Amino acid sequence: MDEYNKVMMVAVDTLRANHLGCYGHDQETSPFIDQLADEGTYFEKCYASDVPTPSSFTSFLCGSRGLENGIIGFNDEWSDFRPTSRPLPERFAGSGYRTGMISNLPYSTPWLIRGFHDIHPPGLAFQAGSATEVTEEARRWLRNHGNDNFFLFVHYWDPHVPYDLAPEEYKEMFSPGDYSESSPDMEVFEENEWLKAVYKGHHSKTGTPEKPEKVMSLYDSEIRYTDSEIENLFGALQELGIDEETLVVLFSDHGEAFGEYGFWDHHSCYNNISRVPLIFWSRDSNWEGPIEEYVQHLDVYPTVLKMAGLSRTGGTDGKNLLPLLEGSGNGREEVVVNTDSTVIQRMYVKNDYALVHTPLRPIRKHIDEFEFFDLEEDPDQLKDISEEKEGLVEKYRLELQDWLSDYLDGSLDLLHKSAVKGCSGLNWYQEALSENPDLAFDDKEFMREFINQYGEAAWLVGEERITSKEDMEAYGPRNE
Ligand SMILES: [Zn+2]
Repeated sequence: MDEYNKVMMVAVDTLRANHLGCYGHDQETSPFIDQLADEGTYFEKCYASDVPTPSSFTSFLCGSRGLENGIIGFNDEWSDFRPTSRPLPERFAGSGYRTGMISNLPYSTPWLIRGFHDIHPPGLAFQAGSATEVTEEARRWLRNHGNDNFFLFVHYWDPHVPYDLAPEEYKEMFSPGDYSESSPDMEVFEENEWLKAVYKGHHSKTGTPEKPEKVMSLYDSEIRYTDSEIENLFGALQELGIDEETLVVLFSDHGEAFGEYGFWDHHSCYNNISRVPLIFWSRDSNWEGPIEEYVQHLDVYPTVLKMAGLSRTGGTDGKNLLPLLEGSGNGREEVVVNTDSTVIQRMYVKNDYALVHTPLRPIRKHIDEFEFFDLEEDPDQLKDISEEKEGLVEKYRLELQDWLSDYLDGSLDLLHKSAVKGCSGLNWYQEALSENPDLAFDDKEFMREFINQYGEAAWLVGEERITSKEDMEAYGPRNE
Protein backbone atom coordinates (compact mmCIF):
# COMPACT_ATOMS: atom_id res chain seq x y z
CA MET A 1 0.00 0.00 0.00
CA ASP A 2 1.55 3.29 -1.06
CA GLU A 3 -0.72 5.68 0.73
CA TYR A 4 -3.37 4.88 3.31
CA ASN A 5 -6.63 6.76 3.21
CA LYS A 6 -8.03 5.04 6.31
CA VAL A 7 -6.15 5.45 9.59
CA MET A 8 -7.26 3.96 12.91
CA MET A 9 -5.48 4.82 16.16
CA VAL A 10 -6.16 2.34 18.96
CA ALA A 11 -5.15 3.69 22.36
CA VAL A 12 -5.18 1.38 25.37
CA ASP A 13 -4.82 3.51 28.46
CA THR A 14 -2.40 2.36 31.19
CA LEU A 15 -0.98 -0.53 29.17
CA ARG A 16 2.48 -1.40 30.44
CA ALA A 17 4.63 -2.66 27.55
CA ASN A 18 6.01 -5.73 29.31
CA HIS A 19 2.53 -6.99 30.19
CA LEU A 20 1.97 -7.91 26.54
CA GLY A 21 3.14 -11.24 25.18
CA CYS A 22 4.99 -9.64 22.26
CA TYR A 23 6.97 -7.52 24.76
CA GLY A 24 7.94 -10.59 26.79
CA HIS A 25 5.18 -11.15 29.34
CA ASP A 26 4.86 -14.73 30.62
CA GLN A 27 1.06 -14.56 31.04
CA GLU A 28 -1.30 -14.90 28.10
CA THR A 29 -2.74 -11.40 28.17
CA SER A 30 -2.66 -10.49 24.50
CA PRO A 31 -3.11 -13.22 21.87
CA PHE A 32 -4.71 -10.84 19.38
CA ILE A 33 -2.39 -7.88 19.95
CA ASP A 34 0.56 -10.29 19.60
CA GLN A 35 -0.85 -11.39 16.25
CA LEU A 36 -1.08 -7.74 15.13
CA ALA A 37 2.53 -7.17 16.21
CA ASP A 38 3.56 -10.25 14.28
CA GLU A 39 1.69 -9.34 11.08
CA GLY A 40 2.76 -5.70 11.31
CA THR A 41 5.66 -4.68 13.51
CA TYR A 42 6.39 -3.18 16.91
CA PHE A 43 8.87 -0.81 18.48
CA GLU A 44 10.66 -2.32 21.46
CA LYS A 45 11.89 0.94 22.90
CA CYS A 46 9.14 3.48 22.43
CA TYR A 47 8.86 6.10 25.17
CA ALA A 48 6.14 8.64 25.80
CA SER A 49 7.59 12.13 25.79
CA ASP A 50 5.22 13.16 28.57
CA VAL A 51 3.19 11.30 31.18
CA PRO A 52 0.53 10.91 32.57
CA THR A 53 -2.73 10.85 30.56
CA PRO A 54 -3.41 14.52 29.70
CA SER A 55 0.15 15.39 28.71
CA SER A 56 0.74 12.07 26.99
CA PHE A 57 -2.26 12.23 24.65
CA THR A 58 -1.64 15.91 23.98
CA SER A 59 1.95 15.27 22.91
CA PHE A 60 0.89 12.23 20.88
CA LEU A 61 -1.82 14.03 18.91
CA CYS A 62 0.19 17.24 18.45
CA GLY A 63 3.59 15.73 17.72
CA SER A 64 5.19 18.04 20.28
CA ARG A 65 6.46 17.87 23.85
CA GLY A 66 4.60 19.28 26.83
CA LEU A 67 7.48 21.74 27.30
CA GLU A 68 6.37 23.24 24.02
CA ASN A 69 2.60 22.64 23.81
CA GLY A 70 2.04 23.71 27.43
CA ILE A 71 0.46 20.54 28.87
CA ILE A 72 2.71 18.76 31.39
CA GLY A 73 0.44 17.37 34.14
CA PHE A 74 -3.01 17.43 35.72
CA ASN A 75 -3.15 21.13 36.61
CA ASP A 76 -3.04 22.47 33.07
CA GLU A 77 -6.04 24.06 31.48
CA TRP A 78 -7.30 24.93 28.03
CA SER A 79 -5.57 28.32 28.21
CA ASP A 80 -2.21 26.56 28.77
CA PHE A 81 -2.55 24.67 25.49
CA ARG A 82 -0.50 26.38 22.77
CA PRO A 83 0.45 23.81 20.15
CA THR A 84 2.96 24.79 17.53
CA SER A 85 1.56 22.30 15.05
CA ARG A 86 -2.02 21.55 14.13
CA PRO A 87 -3.28 18.46 16.00
CA LEU A 88 -3.30 15.30 13.90
CA PRO A 89 -7.12 15.05 13.50
CA GLU A 90 -7.18 18.65 12.29
CA ARG A 91 -4.56 17.81 9.66
CA PHE A 92 -6.67 14.89 8.44
CA ALA A 93 -9.95 16.83 8.58
CA GLY A 94 -8.30 19.63 6.58
CA SER A 95 -7.42 17.09 3.88
CA GLY A 96 -10.98 15.84 3.48
CA TYR A 97 -10.88 12.90 5.86
CA ARG A 98 -13.81 12.15 8.18
CA THR A 99 -12.44 12.27 11.73
CA GLY A 100 -13.94 10.46 14.72
CA MET A 101 -13.06 10.17 18.39
CA ILE A 102 -14.40 7.32 20.53
CA SER A 103 -13.08 8.45 23.90
CA ASN A 104 -14.12 10.27 27.03
CA LEU A 105 -10.91 12.33 27.03
CA PRO A 106 -12.94 15.53 26.40
CA TYR A 107 -13.94 15.41 30.09
CA SER A 108 -10.33 15.77 31.20
CA THR A 109 -8.52 17.29 28.22
CA PRO A 110 -11.14 19.25 26.24
CA TRP A 111 -8.52 20.80 23.95
CA LEU A 112 -8.10 17.39 22.31
CA ILE A 113 -11.45 17.65 20.55
CA ARG A 114 -9.80 19.95 18.01
CA GLY A 115 -10.19 18.58 14.52
CA PHE A 116 -12.71 15.81 15.25
CA HIS A 117 -16.01 15.87 13.31
CA ASP A 118 -17.62 13.25 15.55
CA ILE A 119 -16.97 12.76 19.27
CA HIS A 120 -18.54 9.81 21.09
CA PRO A 121 -17.55 9.47 24.75
CA PRO A 122 -18.58 5.94 25.85
CA GLY A 123 -20.33 6.00 29.23
CA LEU A 124 -20.69 9.80 29.01
CA ALA A 125 -18.23 10.42 31.87
CA PHE A 126 -14.48 10.54 32.40
CA GLN A 127 -13.00 7.03 32.46
CA ALA A 128 -16.45 5.50 31.93
CA GLY A 129 -17.40 2.99 29.26
CA SER A 130 -16.27 -0.63 29.17
CA ALA A 131 -14.18 -2.11 26.35
CA THR A 132 -17.39 -3.66 24.98
CA GLU A 133 -19.09 -0.24 24.84
CA VAL A 134 -16.01 1.38 23.24
CA THR A 135 -15.99 -1.31 20.54
CA GLU A 136 -19.72 -0.94 19.93
CA GLU A 137 -19.39 2.84 19.46
CA ALA A 138 -16.39 2.40 17.17
CA ARG A 139 -18.14 -0.25 15.08
CA ARG A 140 -21.19 2.01 14.74
CA TRP A 141 -18.97 4.88 13.58
CA LEU A 142 -17.19 2.61 11.09
CA ARG A 143 -20.52 1.44 9.64
CA ASN A 144 -21.35 5.11 8.94
CA HIS A 145 -17.94 6.35 7.79
CA GLY A 146 -15.77 3.29 7.08
CA ASN A 147 -16.09 3.75 3.33
CA ASP A 148 -14.92 7.39 3.47
CA ASN A 149 -11.34 8.46 3.88
CA PHE A 150 -11.13 8.49 7.65
CA PHE A 151 -9.04 9.09 10.77
CA LEU A 152 -10.50 7.27 13.78
CA PHE A 153 -9.19 7.49 17.36
CA VAL A 154 -10.47 4.68 19.61
CA HIS A 155 -9.56 4.78 23.30
CA TYR A 156 -9.94 1.88 25.77
CA TRP A 157 -9.66 2.57 29.53
CA ASP A 158 -9.97 -0.91 31.00
CA PRO A 159 -6.44 -1.56 32.35
CA HIS A 160 -6.73 1.66 34.37
CA VAL A 161 -7.74 1.50 38.06
CA PRO A 162 -10.27 0.17 39.23
CA TYR A 163 -8.84 -3.15 38.15
CA ASP A 164 -11.76 -5.45 38.77
CA LEU A 165 -14.13 -4.52 35.95
CA ALA A 166 -13.35 -7.30 33.47
CA PRO A 167 -16.05 -9.98 33.09
CA GLU A 168 -15.56 -12.99 35.40
CA GLU A 169 -14.42 -15.29 32.59
CA TYR A 170 -11.33 -13.10 32.14
CA LYS A 171 -10.62 -12.82 35.85
CA GLU A 172 -10.59 -16.59 36.09
CA MET A 173 -7.75 -16.79 33.56
CA PHE A 174 -5.18 -15.20 35.93
CA SER A 175 -4.20 -16.32 39.40
CA PRO A 176 -2.35 -14.16 41.99
CA GLY A 177 -0.17 -17.19 42.80
CA ASP A 178 1.47 -16.89 39.37
CA TYR A 179 2.82 -13.43 40.23
CA SER A 180 4.67 -14.21 43.45
CA GLU A 181 8.07 -13.98 41.76
CA SER A 182 7.41 -11.02 39.50
CA SER A 183 5.62 -8.82 42.05
CA PRO A 184 7.57 -6.08 43.89
CA ASP A 185 8.81 -6.67 47.44
CA MET A 186 7.29 -3.42 48.82
CA GLU A 187 10.35 -2.82 51.02
CA VAL A 188 10.28 0.93 50.41
CA PHE A 189 6.84 1.14 52.02
CA GLU A 190 8.00 -0.65 55.16
CA GLU A 191 10.67 2.01 55.65
CA ASN A 192 8.43 5.03 55.07
CA GLU A 193 5.25 5.36 57.12
CA TRP A 194 4.01 8.34 55.11
CA LEU A 195 4.26 6.49 51.88
CA LYS A 196 2.66 3.40 53.39
CA ALA A 197 -0.24 5.48 54.73
CA VAL A 198 -0.91 7.13 51.37
CA TYR A 199 -0.61 3.79 49.59
CA LYS A 200 -3.15 2.22 51.94
CA GLY A 201 -5.47 5.23 51.67
CA HIS A 202 -5.35 5.19 47.86
CA HIS A 203 -6.15 1.49 47.71
CA SER A 204 -8.95 1.72 50.21
CA LYS A 205 -10.44 4.74 48.39
CA THR A 206 -10.38 3.02 45.01
CA GLY A 207 -11.42 -0.38 46.36
CA THR A 208 -8.17 -1.88 45.05
CA PRO A 209 -6.47 -4.79 46.82
CA GLU A 210 -3.15 -3.87 48.45
CA LYS A 211 -1.31 -7.06 47.53
CA PRO A 212 0.60 -6.49 44.27
CA GLU A 213 0.09 -10.13 43.20
CA LYS A 214 -3.67 -9.67 43.32
CA VAL A 215 -3.51 -6.30 41.56
CA MET A 216 -1.31 -7.70 38.79
CA SER A 217 -3.60 -10.67 38.14
CA LEU A 218 -6.66 -8.38 37.93
CA TYR A 219 -4.74 -5.90 35.76
CA ASP A 220 -3.84 -8.71 33.35
CA SER A 221 -7.46 -9.85 33.20
CA GLU A 222 -8.41 -6.36 32.00
CA ILE A 223 -5.72 -6.45 29.31
CA ARG A 224 -7.02 -9.83 28.14
CA TYR A 225 -10.58 -8.50 28.05
CA THR A 226 -9.47 -5.44 26.05
CA ASP A 227 -7.48 -7.68 23.71
CA SER A 228 -10.61 -9.64 22.82
CA GLU A 229 -12.57 -6.42 22.26
CA ILE A 230 -9.85 -5.13 19.94
CA GLU A 231 -10.21 -8.36 17.97
CA ASN A 232 -13.93 -7.64 17.79
CA LEU A 233 -13.17 -4.11 16.54
CA PHE A 234 -10.93 -5.50 13.78
CA GLY A 235 -13.83 -7.74 12.77
CA ALA A 236 -15.62 -4.57 11.64
CA LEU A 237 -12.78 -3.73 9.21
CA GLN A 238 -13.16 -7.17 7.64
CA GLU A 239 -16.96 -7.06 7.54
CA LEU A 240 -16.79 -3.74 5.71
CA GLY A 241 -14.08 -5.06 3.40
CA ILE A 242 -11.71 -2.21 4.26
CA ASP A 243 -9.05 -4.08 6.23
CA GLU A 244 -6.63 -4.01 3.28
CA GLU A 245 -6.80 -0.23 2.99
CA THR A 246 -6.49 0.59 6.68
CA LEU A 247 -3.40 1.56 8.63
CA VAL A 248 -3.68 0.80 12.36
CA VAL A 249 -1.45 2.20 15.10
CA LEU A 250 -1.88 0.65 18.55
CA PHE A 251 -0.27 2.37 21.52
CA SER A 252 -0.64 3.32 25.15
CA ASP A 253 -0.33 6.69 26.88
CA HIS A 254 1.69 5.24 29.79
CA GLY A 255 2.29 2.05 31.73
CA GLU A 256 1.52 1.17 35.34
CA ALA A 257 3.42 0.55 38.59
CA PHE A 258 2.39 -1.95 41.24
CA GLY A 259 4.53 -0.76 44.14
CA GLU A 260 7.97 -0.97 42.52
CA TYR A 261 10.34 1.56 44.05
CA GLY A 262 7.56 3.17 46.08
CA PHE A 263 5.27 3.95 43.13
CA TRP A 264 1.82 2.78 42.13
CA ASP A 265 -0.66 3.95 39.47
CA HIS A 266 1.32 5.97 36.90
CA HIS A 267 3.17 8.84 38.48
CA SER A 268 6.82 8.83 37.51
CA CYS A 269 9.05 8.69 34.44
CA TYR A 270 10.59 5.32 35.22
CA ASN A 271 10.56 2.62 32.55
CA ASN A 272 7.43 0.84 33.79
CA ILE A 273 5.49 4.07 33.21
CA SER A 274 7.15 5.81 30.27
CA ARG A 275 8.11 2.86 28.05
CA VAL A 276 4.98 2.06 26.10
CA PRO A 277 3.82 -0.37 23.41
CA LEU A 278 3.79 0.94 19.84
CA ILE A 279 2.52 -1.37 17.10
CA PHE A 280 1.99 -0.57 13.41
CA TRP A 281 -0.31 -2.87 11.48
CA SER A 282 -1.40 -3.08 7.88
CA ARG A 283 -2.83 -6.16 6.15
CA ASP A 284 -0.17 -6.43 3.45
CA SER A 285 2.76 -4.83 5.21
CA ASN A 286 6.25 -6.15 4.82
CA TRP A 287 7.88 -4.14 7.57
CA GLU A 288 11.01 -4.89 9.48
CA GLY A 289 10.68 -5.86 13.07
CA PRO A 290 10.76 -5.82 15.91
CA ILE A 291 12.49 -2.44 15.78
CA GLU A 292 15.00 -1.90 18.56
CA GLU A 293 15.88 1.75 18.00
CA TYR A 294 14.72 4.40 20.47
CA VAL A 295 11.58 6.24 19.35
CA GLN A 296 9.05 8.49 21.08
CA HIS A 297 5.32 9.06 20.90
CA LEU A 298 5.71 12.32 19.03
CA ASP A 299 7.30 10.46 16.12
CA VAL A 300 3.95 8.93 15.20
CA TYR A 301 2.64 12.34 14.07
CA PRO A 302 4.89 12.87 11.02
CA THR A 303 4.89 9.12 10.29
CA VAL A 304 1.16 8.71 9.78
CA LEU A 305 0.95 11.97 7.83
CA LYS A 306 3.64 10.64 5.55
CA MET A 307 1.96 7.24 5.24
CA ALA A 308 -1.33 8.92 4.32
CA GLY A 309 0.45 10.97 1.68
CA LEU A 310 -0.20 14.28 3.47
CA SER A 311 2.54 16.84 3.60
CA ARG A 312 4.24 17.44 6.92
CA THR A 313 3.46 20.63 8.76
CA GLY A 314 6.01 22.64 10.74
CA GLY A 315 6.27 22.70 14.49
CA THR A 316 6.62 19.01 15.20
CA ASP A 317 9.70 17.54 16.85
CA GLY A 318 8.69 14.10 15.68
CA LYS A 319 10.91 11.98 13.51
CA ASN A 320 9.36 10.14 10.56
CA LEU A 321 9.54 6.40 11.37
CA LEU A 322 8.75 5.17 7.86
CA PRO A 323 12.43 4.54 6.94
CA LEU A 324 12.76 2.42 10.10
CA LEU A 325 9.66 0.43 9.16
CA GLU A 326 11.18 -0.16 5.73
CA GLY A 327 14.47 -1.36 7.17
CA SER A 328 16.66 1.70 6.83
CA GLY A 329 17.13 4.89 8.80
CA ASN A 330 17.80 5.41 12.45
CA GLY A 331 15.82 6.06 15.57
CA ARG A 332 16.72 8.61 18.22
CA GLU A 333 20.09 8.73 19.95
CA GLU A 334 18.44 9.57 23.24
CA VAL A 335 14.95 9.92 24.67
CA VAL A 336 13.67 12.46 27.19
CA VAL A 337 10.50 12.05 29.25
CA ASN A 338 8.85 14.55 31.61
CA THR A 339 6.19 14.20 34.26
CA ASP A 340 4.34 16.45 36.68
CA SER A 341 2.19 14.14 38.78
CA THR A 342 2.87 13.61 42.51
CA VAL A 343 6.55 14.03 41.64
CA ILE A 344 8.29 16.33 39.20
CA GLN A 345 10.68 14.23 37.25
CA ARG A 346 12.63 14.06 34.02
CA MET A 347 14.35 10.98 32.58
CA TYR A 348 17.13 10.96 29.98
CA VAL A 349 17.83 7.58 28.35
CA LYS A 350 20.74 6.73 26.09
CA ASN A 351 22.68 3.52 25.37
CA ASP A 352 20.55 1.61 27.91
CA TYR A 353 21.45 3.92 30.79
CA ALA A 354 18.93 6.28 32.38
CA LEU A 355 19.62 9.50 34.23
CA VAL A 356 16.61 10.51 36.33
CA HIS A 357 16.25 14.03 37.74
CA THR A 358 13.53 14.47 40.38
CA PRO A 359 13.54 18.05 41.66
CA LEU A 360 10.28 17.56 43.60
CA ARG A 361 9.49 14.26 45.33
CA PRO A 362 7.14 14.73 48.30
CA ILE A 363 7.21 11.87 50.81
CA ARG A 364 9.51 9.73 48.65
CA LYS A 365 12.61 10.23 50.72
CA HIS A 366 14.35 7.20 49.25
CA ILE A 367 14.85 9.04 45.95
CA ASP A 368 17.87 11.26 45.40
CA GLU A 369 17.62 14.34 43.23
CA PHE A 370 19.74 12.64 40.56
CA GLU A 371 19.72 8.87 40.04
CA PHE A 372 21.36 6.64 37.46
CA PHE A 373 20.24 3.20 36.27
CA ASP A 374 21.52 0.42 34.03
CA LEU A 375 18.38 -0.47 32.08
CA GLU A 376 19.86 -3.63 30.60
CA GLU A 377 20.65 -5.10 34.04
CA ASP A 378 17.87 -3.41 35.97
CA PRO A 379 14.90 -2.60 33.70
CA ASP A 380 12.61 -1.98 36.70
CA GLN A 381 15.02 0.67 37.98
CA LEU A 382 15.31 -0.59 41.53
CA LYS A 383 19.03 0.09 42.03
CA ASP A 384 20.51 3.57 41.74
CA ILE A 385 24.13 3.11 40.63
CA SER A 386 25.10 6.78 40.51
CA GLU A 387 27.90 6.35 43.08
CA GLU A 388 29.69 3.64 41.15
CA LYS A 389 29.19 5.40 37.78
CA GLU A 390 30.13 8.91 38.86
CA GLY A 391 31.90 9.84 35.63
CA LEU A 392 29.07 8.64 33.45
CA VAL A 393 26.50 10.42 35.62
CA GLU A 394 28.34 13.70 35.14
CA LYS A 395 28.50 13.11 31.40
CA TYR A 396 24.76 12.41 31.21
CA ARG A 397 23.94 15.43 33.38
CA LEU A 398 25.87 17.69 31.02
CA GLU A 399 24.26 16.10 27.99
CA LEU A 400 20.79 16.59 29.46
CA GLN A 401 21.63 20.20 30.24
CA ASP A 402 22.77 20.75 26.65
CA TRP A 403 19.67 19.03 25.33
CA LEU A 404 17.45 21.29 27.45
CA SER A 405 19.29 24.47 26.49
CA ASP A 406 18.91 23.62 22.84
CA TYR A 407 15.30 22.58 23.19
CA LEU A 408 14.09 25.44 25.38
CA ASP A 409 16.10 28.05 23.48
CA GLY A 410 15.62 30.58 26.26
CA SER A 411 12.00 29.79 27.11
CA LEU A 412 10.82 28.70 30.55
CA ASP A 413 11.25 25.11 31.72
CA LEU A 414 7.63 24.31 32.63
CA LEU A 415 8.73 21.57 35.02
CA HIS A 416 10.59 24.13 37.12
CA LYS A 417 7.60 26.43 37.08
CA SER A 418 5.42 23.62 38.37
CA ALA A 419 7.98 22.60 41.01
CA VAL A 420 7.76 26.05 42.53
CA LYS A 421 3.96 25.98 42.60
CA GLY A 422 3.81 22.40 43.90
CA CYS A 423 3.28 19.61 41.44
CA SER A 424 -0.06 18.26 40.26
CA GLY A 425 -1.75 15.27 41.85
CA LEU A 426 -0.80 15.98 45.48
CA ASN A 427 -4.45 16.50 46.40
CA TRP A 428 -4.86 12.73 45.97
CA TYR A 429 -2.45 12.15 48.82
CA GLN A 430 -4.54 14.29 51.09
CA GLU A 431 -7.76 12.69 49.89
CA ALA A 432 -6.26 9.23 50.34
CA LEU A 433 -5.48 10.02 53.95
CA SER A 434 -8.75 11.72 54.81
CA GLU A 435 -10.76 8.91 53.19
CA ASN A 436 -9.21 6.43 55.56
CA PRO A 437 -10.35 6.97 59.17
CA ASP A 438 -7.91 4.36 60.47
CA LEU A 439 -4.92 6.52 59.61
CA ALA A 440 -3.45 8.61 62.36
CA PHE A 441 -2.54 11.73 60.41
CA ASP A 442 -4.62 14.89 60.31
CA ASP A 443 -4.62 17.20 57.33
CA LYS A 444 -2.68 19.97 58.99
CA GLU A 445 0.29 17.80 59.81
CA PHE A 446 0.13 16.29 56.39
CA MET A 447 0.23 19.65 54.65
CA ARG A 448 3.09 20.77 56.87
CA GLU A 449 5.09 17.81 55.68
CA PHE A 450 4.36 18.83 52.11
CA ILE A 451 5.44 22.39 52.72
CA ASN A 452 8.71 21.01 53.97
CA GLN A 453 9.12 19.22 50.71
CA TYR A 454 8.08 22.22 48.63
CA GLY A 455 10.60 24.33 50.45
CA GLU A 456 13.35 21.94 49.53
CA ALA A 457 12.26 21.83 45.91
CA ALA A 458 11.91 25.58 45.66
CA TRP A 459 15.41 26.00 47.01
CA LEU A 460 16.66 23.41 44.57
CA VAL A 461 15.34 25.25 41.56
CA GLY A 462 16.55 28.57 42.91
CA GLU A 463 13.25 30.37 42.52
CA GLU A 464 12.44 30.80 46.24
CA ARG A 465 14.63 30.93 49.32
CA ILE A 466 13.14 28.97 52.16
CA THR A 467 15.58 27.83 54.77
CA SER A 468 13.67 27.28 58.00
CA LYS A 469 10.48 25.63 59.15
CA GLU A 470 9.06 29.09 59.98
CA ASP A 471 9.71 30.19 56.40
CA MET A 472 7.94 27.09 55.17
CA GLU A 473 4.87 27.72 57.30
CA ALA A 474 4.74 31.35 56.20
CA TYR A 475 5.12 30.21 52.60
CA GLY A 476 1.90 28.20 52.97
CA PRO A 477 0.61 25.15 51.18
CA ARG A 478 1.07 25.28 47.44
CA ASN A 479 -1.81 23.08 46.51
CA GLU A 480 -4.84 25.10 47.66
ZN1 LIG B 1 -3.79 7.30 31.02
